[in-house]
Amino acid sequence: MAIREIRIVGDPVLRTPCDPVTTIDERVRSLVTDLLETVDMEGRAGLAANQIGSNLRAFSWNIDDEIGYVLNPEIVALSDEEYQDDDEGCLSVPGLWFPTRRSWYARVEGIDLDGKPVVVEGTGLMARCLQHEVDHLDGKLYLDRLERSVRKKAMRAVRELV
Ligand code: ZN
Repeated sequence: MAIREIRIVGDPVLRTPCDPVTTIDERVRSLVTDLLETVDMEGRAGLAANQIGSNLRAFSWNIDDEIGYVLNPEIVALSDEEYQDDDEGCLSVPGLWFPTRRSWYARVEGIDLDGKPVVVEGTGLMARCLQHEVDHLDGKLYLDRLERSVRKKAMRAVRELV
C-alpha cells in the first residue's frame, strides 16, 4: 500500500496502451489499493494505472466525495449531441489547464476485483473523468484532443514544463 509517484508528460509509459487484466492476483489487488490511495488527495479527480507506472488497464476516480476504481474499463456509450467545453487538466501535465471538448455523458463498463461486471457512468465532471482516464489507458493524453490553436499554445507550455 502506497501513495505512488505520478509520471509526468514525456515519460513513455504514458504513451503505452495498457494491457487488460486477465488474472486477478496480488499484483492487481495492490495496484487497486495504490490507485485508490494515490487519487485520495485534494485536487485529484482521476488516476490511470500507467500514470503510476503500471501497464495494467485500471483507473480510479475521486469525484463528489466518491472514490472508486474499475478494471478493464471500456467506453460503451457517449452522448453524441451534448458536449462540455470546460478546462481540463491532468496530474501528468501539472499546473496546466486547457479547454477540452468532451461528451456530456459517458458510460464505462469493466470488472471489479471479484471479476464481476461493473458499470460506471455520469455527466459533467464524472463523464469528463471517465473519458480522460480511458484515454490514458489507450496511451493518449488530453493534449491530443485540444483544438488546433489551443494545442499549439499547450505544446509550448508543456515544453517549458519538461
Ligand atoms: Zn490525466
